[in-house]
Amino acid sequence: MDKKVLITGVAGFLGSHLAKDLLAAGCVVVGVDNLLSGKITNIKGLPEDRFIFKEMDVCSRKILTDSDMKNIEEIYHFASAASPKYYQASPFETIDVNTIGTKNMLELAKRNQAKMVYTSTSEAYGDPEVHPQPETYRGNVNTWGPRACYDEAKRLGEVLCYLYFTEYQTKVKVARIFNTYSAGLANDDGRVISNFVTQALKGEDITVYGDGTQTRSFCYVTDTINGLKLLMEKDEANGEIINIGNPVEFPILEVAHLVKGLVNSESIITFHPLPKDDPKVRRPDIEKAKRLLGWEPVYSLEEGLALTVMEYRTKLEIQ
Ligand code: UDP
Repeated sequence: MDKKVLITGVAGFLGSHLAKDLLAAGCVVVGVDNLLSGKITNIKGLPEDRFIFKEMDVCSRKILTDSDMKNIEEIYHFASAASPKYYQASPFETIDVNTIGTKNMLELAKRNQAKMVYTSTSEAYGDPEVHPQPETYRGNVNTWGPRACYDEAKRLGEVLCYLYFTEYQTKVKVARIFNTYSAGLANDDGRVISNFVTQALKGEDITVYGDGTQTRSFCYVTDTINGLKLLMEKDEANGEIINIGNPVEFPILEVAHLVKGLVNSESIITFHPLPKDDPKVRRPDIEKAKRLLGWEPVYSLEEGLALTVMEYRTKLEIQ
């Protein structure tokens, strides 16, 4: 029988990408989304015979007894706003989906003896004082600030995974995902790559926050999805936290120039106040992913950006 997989946050950036990938591989996909930040257009046209969409909230206990959840073999728990713009606009929902929602998904995994991948975040490291960040680094998160609702909720989500693994031997694995991108990000998503490419294509100002010396490490979506699938597959990863990200680091100002150059844009690079608690550096140590999963990214930022620019051009109908 075809493998039955549950994806929460299926109408989001990563969820919709993974759904297409798994459907193409012959899986039956049950996709859940409450459409708070996900977009229904992301899952339009998926094959109805093997894709079941449920508009529901993973925080509802009803999900545990829903008949479509029977015989689920794998759970990818992606549901959550992930862009600072969106999680800060819905802080309580962000906390709930990563805590109550994660507990529900773990319970479902336990009852079905299913495997589960929980998508945590590099934000678990906060504004890091150790660089690059290995999984053993415990982080530097401010509980009293605008990012706390996301960072601390994801950290508590990890705690729940730890408890289900140690108490019930649930086959759960945690991915700490670092900045991921592609044209799958909505143009108004608010994250840096979608902002810069959209601005450059439209000839609008490219908005650098702060002086642009803060760094991030960007992973193309195909690489991230491949890492997450391997994480699901490998039993060695049960009960483990693994960084999934590209270890090549860029200052944000350099990204602005790179995008401007690739688009051949007339846009002007402008500087704006740095948001509170914006991490100064971020780069994953991916030795554990290499060792346990045999995974590392293959797309360079230049290659990934070229694809992103091409697809956004089509989406925005800019020649
Ligand atoms: N950023 C920026 N201009 C933008 C959007 C973001 O300079 O239009 C910066 C932001 O301040 C941060 C980095 O780019 O330093 C990455 O921001 P993003 O919101 O993409 O994700 P984060 O890694 O902060 O969660």
